[in-house]
This record gives sequence, structure tokens and C-alpha cells, in this order.
Amino acid sequence: MAKKDRYGLIDLHKEFPNDDACLEHVFDTLHSRQCSCGGTYHKVSGRKKFQCSKCRFQIAPMAGTIFEKSSTPLTLWFHAVLFFSNAKSGISSKQMQRELNVTYKCAYRILKQIREALKQDNDKLSGDVEMDEGFIGGRGNGGTYNKNYSEVMKDKAKVIAAVERGGKMKAQHVPDVSSMSIWQFLEDHIAQNAHLLTDSSNRYDLAVQAHGMKRTAVNHSKKQFVKGDAHVNSVEWFWSHVKKSLKGTFKSVSKEQLQSYLDVFVWHYNNRRNDRQRFEALLGILLPVKG
Ligand SMILES: [Zn+2]
Repeated sequence: MAKKDRYGLIDLHKEFPNDDACLEHVFDTLHSRQCSCGGTYHKVSGRKKFQCSKCRFQIAPMAGTIFEKSSTPLTLWFHAVLFFSNAKSGISSKQMQRELNVTYKCAYRILKQIREALKQDNDKLSGDVEMDEGFIGGRGNGGTYNKNYSEVMKDKAKVIAAVERGGKMKAQHVPDVSSMSIWQFLEDHIAQNAHLLTDSSNRYDLAVQAHGMKRTAVNHSKKQFVKGDAHVNSVEWFWSHVKKSLKGTFKSVSKEQLQSYLDVFVWHYNNRRNDRQRFEALLGILLPVKG
């Protein structure tokens, strides 16, 4: 990443030196400075409110946001958001605690609120879509020559991911990788007219047939990794990134937590722009009023 694309703590402190500067930014993200009466909104000194210069109408920009009831200062929230948005391999509560110098409980709560806001949307992928299954966690490795192969695999969490070429990623924790689960994943996440690129596993046959989608398979076992443009390299890169990150950063993630961690990795994958834009995007997700 070029230097101009980086945005770190020093930049953050320069741009948002105090809570007032953060609050001005929150206001501008959610509201217009122009009031419908023709007046302009300005911050009321010493209060977390903005008032119209003409009709005196007041707006409290934090109302209804996750920041409203939090006793954590806005500058610390902004710091947490930047730390999170720059951590492509994820961060644990322990790391967040050290970074912000807050209690573990506070760090845990901040991380939980950010993760909850990053649930994947319901948009469907279309065009050329790579799709592959992944097996995460558990003890031991799979591998063709492992005598305990089926036991090792039973212990692992099963996940399906798909990525639109030049577009977005989706990943979902599934009970198994049966035809039925694949069918359900296609139903939920892939547009009918998409062109699927998968490995040659016959698990896909029934599910894809049932959907009537176009599919090209690449045969891994014959070392035919790239056949024309039929490869699943992006999804495989994603799996290896997720596995490495979970091992390095989180040590152990329970199967119950896995989906929310996947949502975070997917968000990072889908937001591979420069640091400042990613920070802005994450703030934009956190700010809207929760219904
Ligand atoms: Zn007004």
C-alpha cells in the first residue's frame, strides 16, 4: 500500500484532536448543515447538541447511535474504530484493551458492538462467482493420507464462501457441506444468472442442477489449478488468510462465534481501499440509528 493510502494514529489525532472535533464529524455524517428554514447548524458550546442559527431547532447527533449511552469518550471510540479498521487479521479484546488502555470489559464491549454492526448484507453475487468450502479449527490436519481423516474433519467447522470476480465476498458458517447446504447457500447468496466457478467436487452437481446455474469446474486433484479463467484462487486466498488470522490473533474461536468473525473478515475483504476511506466506511456503518 502506498504511503498516501495509509492513515494512522498520528493522522487521526491531527484530524480529530478532541471530542468536539469528533462530534462535528458525527453531525456531518448524519445531517446537513443547512436547515430547511434557510439557517445553518452550529454546535452549542459545552453541549453535545447543534442548533439552527435561524429557527433555533436543535439536533443531538449522538441520539440513537451506539455512542449515545457509552461513557467512553468519542476520541477513544474513533481510536478503536481506526485500530479495528486497520487490523486486517482481526484483533482480540486483549489487544484492544492494551491499545486503548481501558478495562478488559470496556474493550470487549466495544469490539462486540463493532462486530455486531458488520453483519453481511442480503445482496446476491452475480457475474463470474468463485465458490469453495473451507474447514476451520479443530485439532489436527486433514490430508489425504491421514488415517483419522474423517474424525479430524468432523471436528472442524464447515464454511462456504463465494466471491464475485471484481466484486464482493460472502462467507457463511454451515452445518455441513452436503448438497442441501450448498443449495441453500446458492439460494441465499448467488443470483440465478451467475456463472459459478468451483472445484470438481460432485457435492455441487445436484445443488447447481437444481438451481439451473451455469458452472465450470476446475479439477484440483489433477493439478489443473487454472483452466482458462476457471480458478478459485480468490476464495482459497481468503481461507488461508482466515485460518492464519484465527490462529495468530484469536487462538481459539468457538463455533458459536465463528459467523461474527467471518463477517469481519468479509468486511475487510470487501473494503480493500485506503485506510482513511475504510475508517470512514466503518464509522458510517456504526453511526446510523439502531431501530
Ligand atoms: Zn432552522
